[in-house]
Amino acid sequence: MKPSLPDMAELELHELEAGLESGGRERFHARQLYRWIYRRGVTDFGRMTDLSRTLRQQLPTEFAVTTPSVVADERSTDGTRKFLLELADKRRIEAVFIPDTPSMTFCISTQVGCAMACDFCLTGKMGLVRNLTAGEIAGQVRVLAAATDLLDRPFNIVLMGMGEPLHNYDNTMKALRMLHAEHGLAVSPRRVTLSTVGIVPGLERLAREPLMPNLAISLHATTDEQRTRLVPPNRKYSLADILDTCRNFPLKKRSRITFEYVLLDGFNDTPEDARRLVRLLSGIKAKVNLIPLNPAPGIPYDRPSDERVGRFAQVLADRHVTVSVRKSRGRDIRAACGQLIVEGGSKKSAGQQMALLMR
Ligand code: SF4
Repeated sequence: MKPSLPDMAELELHELEAGLESGGRERFHARQLYRWIYRRGVTDFGRMTDLSRTLRQQLPTEFAVTTPSVVADERSTDGTRKFLLELADKRRIEAVFIPDTPSMTFCISTQVGCAMACDFCLTGKMGLVRNLTAGEIAGQVRVLAAATDLLDRPFNIVLMGMGEPLHNYDNTMKALRMLHAEHGLAVSPRRVTLSTVGIVPGLERLAREPLMPNLAISLHATTDEQRTRLVPPNRKYSLADILDTCRNFPLKKRSRITFEYVLLDGFNDTPEDARRLVRLLSGIKAKVNLIPLNPAPGIPYDRPSDERVGRFAQVLADRHVTVSVRKSRGRDIRAACGQLIVEGGSKKSAGQQMALLMR
């Protein structure tokens, strides 16, 4: 079998510079290549017109540039677009474009499937198939930015698609560095939000990162008993451990940690839950994002009434906790939070997955 070529899509700028230099080339070509690949969405070396003709002919024999391919692009009536993307090994993932929230936002995946098994999440029912590489994580942004004409405009990135980013820590952080590179898309870490169930060792590492994204914690419950049922990793990393880590998390001036709280009818949405949430968050620079559940077959919870949602939010607001209620986007194309699942991309057959969903 022919050995595969080094993949430029997996290289940070300094790695590409070193790779070119070791082949006797000038380092500055790395910046030109980054500009083409990230800022102009061009991966065909033959079209990179500011490279010499010789280089344009030689590079394809030495490097590949792998990009996820778009298998489907579904559009919701509210402008949300859900992209089904295929990776080099034919695994499939989903990434979502959400317009005007108020900025343009890409919700991207960090794993194929997810090992966290949250009880209200369709992706969790798939189990973990594999981690995404850094190039595959950054590649979703390249594809979505090109498809939505945002290559040269600002956008936000939320790591809230399939997978738990801190369970694929190194590749996720490498992807963020690649997306941040000045000659590429130059995405500021302020425009990136990493959402996690609260893997404490991962949070401790994140606290030391020079390039730190905004942090969102998927809390969803106010007692360990309740939360372990919803978010099984809570068995290992309890509410107290996670919140202590958050209390000591080095936040920039004016930054806050977002606590996501999915509201499940009759399970975690009472005024008493809300009061407990206020007590838990005391001493943390926090804001709360309430997410009324997007019901789906196989998910054993219902969406609370608007009245219950309003009452929960009011308890927080009355106690001076900043609170917002997430407007659900893309529900008609199953692009909403916790609804990403790829039937064909998992090791499990479609039938097995359906069986899991129907449990
Ligand atoms: S909610 Fe997030 S962490 Fe939990 S199973 Fe779904 S994708 Fe994984």
